[in-house]
Amino acid sequence: MTTELSLDSLKRIVRDIMTTRPDEIGCDECVEELDRFVELELAGKNAAEALPLIQDHLDRCGDCHEEFEALLAALRAIT
Ligand SMILES: [Zn+2]
Repeated sequence: MTTELSLDSLKRIVRDIMTTRPDEIGCDECVEELDRFVELELAGKNAAEALPLIQDHLDRCGDCHEEFEALLAALRAIT
């Protein structure tokens, strides 16, 4: 039935809008700011508050989160 089909695609569209926020950043932007984020973290500042978009991305992106953990560990080891 066409009504079911259109309802289905409507649901998909709504879900896309819900999951893709306009202020969302990509991995490239995240990696670019990541060292700044880690520096703030190491300085004992609230990095999540200073760079909320980075925190937001790290929460959702496993790859970048791993990179963040590695960078944090590496910098902690040398400081
Ligand atoms: Zn990412």
